[in-house]
Amino acid sequence: MRIPTKVRITSKRSYTVSLVERFSEANTMGLCDPVSRQIILRKNLPPRPMLATFIHELIHAMEFEHGIEISHRAVDQLDSAIEMLLRLNGWLKAGEGIADLLGCD
Ligand SMILES: [Zn+2]
Repeated sequence: MRIPTKVRITSKRSYTVSLVERFSEANTMGLCDPVSRQIILRKNLPPRPMLATFIHELIHAMEFEHGIEISHRAVDQLDSAIEMLLRLNGWLKAGEGIADLLGCD
């Protein structure tokens, strides 16, 4: 699945997106660093977990950049709920990545 290398969170703030083989914590799938404005995702996740993880980290980026406070439990619930919404409405077709949805490479 293709993932964009940069995502605009606000009109003034963008986050770079990169992929790593693994994190020091074995079960970490992604992270969002508001200081360096980076989203890092684990490579080779299946499409649904990859998209849900990407959405999860985007929610964190929006929390930071908009000053929204959401419990981590709610972020966990929202990531798969949003992934489901995109998929069930055909906004993310089989074989398409988030980059296609967002209209970027
Ligand atoms: Zn999180």
